[in-house]
Amino acid sequence: MSKTNEIINDSWLVEGNSEHPFVIAGPCSAESEEQVLATASELKKYGITHFRAGIWKPRTKPGGFEGVGRIGLDWLVAVKQQLGMRVCTEVANKEHVEAALDAGIDVLWIGARTSANPFSVQEIADALKGNDVTVFVKNPVNPDVDLWLGAIQRIERAGIKRIGAIHRGFSQYRKTKYRNAPCWQIAMELRRLCPHIPMICDPSHMGGKREFIRPLSQTAIELGYDGLMIEAHRCPDDALSDSKQQVTPEVLNSIISTLPKSRREGFVAEELNRLRLAIDNIDDEILSLLAKRLEASQAVGSIKRESGVPFFVPNRYDELLSSRGDIGEKRGISKDFVVELFRLIHSESVKTQLKS
Ligand code: PEP
Ligand code: MN
Repeated sequence: MSKTNEIINDSWLVEGNSEHPFVIAGPCSAESEEQVLATASELKKYGITHFRAGIWKPRTKPGGFEGVGRIGLDWLVAVKQQLGMRVCTEVANKEHVEAALDAGIDVLWIGARTSANPFSVQEIADALKGNDVTVFVKNPVNPDVDLWLGAIQRIERAGIKRIGAIHRGFSQYRKTKYRNAPCWQIAMELRRLCPHIPMICDPSHMGGKREFIRPLSQTAIELGYDGLMIEAHRCPDDALSDSKQQVTPEVLNSIISTLPKSRREGFVAEELNRLRLAIDNIDDEILSLLAKRLEASQAVGSIKRESGVPFFVPNRYDELLSSRGDIGEKRGISKDFVVELFRLIHSESVKTQLKS
């Protein structure tokens, strides 16, 4: 997998204030001019600089509230002009991009359903060409880092300089307690592949319930995310979309003001380096042990081949997983993790034996 070619300015996302991390906040949907302005002015009181509101809403089923459409752009412009906040909205096609750019919207985001579709992302990228606007790309609904990276690359190739990623969780085949389960691993992989793209977290769409916003935000900031996008509504229970996952501006303020600011490595760098060196050495030992283990299983493979014993023996596999799981647990390591690890090790051993 290739890294993104273009290097964006080292963290263009320097906004935020001394009280809390960078936050984009506002209702899931713009519902009326009055709701938009009142919510925005309350958020501004709490130091929020970026106001969000969806005006074209991607709904799973037809017949729900599909957003107020273009009229909502005027309301966002009113927020910008009257309150001096930056305004942000979701775009899903060329017409949305053109209308939002004409209106002077500061930040556009590409939603999770749209970022999963390369045709739509390309259409948006083409409409963005030659414009100076900030674009956030939400992770696609399905847990596929390449699809997310590809969407970012399409926007980069359109010449957009300020691009950010939003981790809003992924659809899962199995139900979890979250609406869209976080896959921190996939987001970390994206950060590895394009370290210059700031990453923010959307705990509202991730959790699906307001009680998850605080813990998910805490985790994201502790992981080093550059900020958050949180849905806030004056009367969350009356919201026309996503009512269960919105909080009042006051609750939002209480959540973000107790969060650590985005983490910086600087002042602990020396200690971190020392510990990382120790970890590098331990990893080296693990790998040399693994190499020894594979050698041993190759020897087992030769005997099996000569004597006609099958390479895969279900009972041995079962016993191996459960005994390693138990040993790991006694040593204070998660049993699920150890079992998963030995599944991988065992499968590599079988492959080695087949080649022996
Ligand atoms: C939203 O931000 O309102 C939205 C629809 O988000 P997502 O694309 O993450 O579902
Ligand atoms: Mn929403």
